[in-house]
Amino acid sequence: MSARAGPAPEAAAAVPEAATLLVTHAEQLVTVAGFSGTPATGSHLGRIGVIEDGAVAVAGTRVIAVGTTDQIERSVYLHGGARTIDARGHVVLPGFVDPHTHLVHAGERSAEFPLRLRGASYLEILRAGGGILGTVRATRQATEAALTAQTRARLDTALGHGTTTLEIKSGYGLDTATELKQLRAAARAGEGHAVKTVRTFMGAHAVPPEYRDDTESYLDLVVQEMLPAVADARLAAFCDVFCEEGVFTPAQSRRVLEAGAALGLRPKVHADELASSGGAELAAEVRAASADHLVYASEAGLAAMAEAAVVAVLLPGTTFSLMGTTYAPARRMVDAGVPVALATDANPGSSPTESMQMVLNLACLQLRLSPEEAIVAATINAAHALGLAAEVGSIEVGKRADLVLYQAPSYGYLPYHYGTNLAATVVAGGRVAWERTDPT
Ligand SMILES: [Zn+2]
Repeated sequence: MSARAGPAPEAAAAVPEAATLLVTHAEQLVTVAGFSGTPATGSHLGRIGVIEDGAVAVAGTRVIAVGTTDQIERSVYLHGGARTIDARGHVVLPGFVDPHTHLVHAGERSAEFPLRLRGASYLEILRAGGGILGTVRATRQATEAALTAQTRARLDTALGHGTTTLEIKSGYGLDTATELKQLRAAARAGEGHAVKTVRTFMGAHAVPPEYRDDTESYLDLVVQEMLPAVADARLAAFCDVFCEEGVFTPAQSRRVLEAGAALGLRPKVHADELASSGGAELAAEVRAASADHLVYASEAGLAAMAEAAVVAVLLPGTTFSLMGTTYAPARRMVDAGVPVALATDANPGSSPTESMQMVLNLACLQLRLSPEEAIVAATINAAHALGLAAEVGSIEVGKRADLVLYQAPSYGYLPYHYGTNLAATVVAGGRVAWERTDPT
């Protein structure tokens, strides 16, 4: 151990900032460096940047040095109260960025699980007044404090599985008061939490029962009342819409997204999840930050997305949980030059999980991404889907110090070994935010 304790000498301007946290001897340090400006596409998607016997130095909330343990120990001064973590037996990755969740909702839907197992489809459950509308009822009834507490607990779970940045959508209110309540609860849950959160308004998630057969009037409410209220209160950075056969048409979706964009909310699209519905094309047309799902996206839609550099956020957990046999055509997307990202879609109906580790497993096993591609998709490309790639998604000097130690001999072990939580220590914003406490 050659890193010196104590403050750096006063006069030495060239001496680097004193480290407050030092991680050394990672079996592999995966940096995913080099894609903060433009997302990784094509053959670049697999470029994860591996440093054997790697080390990271952190000062405050930021990374100040990345290299081999030998390099870092020789060049970095330790702050008086600095903590050093010996990462032998572990790999270190950037914290996962989960760019698509519905984390703020009341209750859960395990009661409809047996129905789904017997073959009822998503749309059949929806038409029977269940599914999303059951969650809408519960969310409308819940107090803001209860929603905040439930959301915070789910954020804790995500953190403990290696997620350090996470997007949260509204869309279980479908009336102005509840949509605002959801976004306020998401904001309060994120306040002071180690996980960095980003909020998306999704009033156009479904047509509520009181507007059945009058979709246009509901969209008037979304555009004329909800969106201005959300923008006024600065409650969301993005505006999302469920552009899907049987939900909102591309024209209806465009109306919502353009109204949101006029108020400063960047567009996102739930696109082509259940059928080819023109969602990918729409996302390209409105220059959306991302188009998500894309299971049935058309070739023309994917080509347009590649051209417009719209990030494809793939949600294999949803297909898995809905027992689908058709997964998003990830390989065709990579070949077409579409930037591919991954997310949990955490929600009570079609993807009840907060685990990006599980998504990594599915991305390899079902989407046929390589382990390297899946890691890039779950970190820096996911950060691009949130417009946060300059800040998070990789381990690079100057970026937020979000990194996770996994008990694994190599990074390839993560997508290979499934169903258990391999996270051992989670550093978020430069602080140890979560540590495994059970003996292993
Ligand atoms: Zn979703």
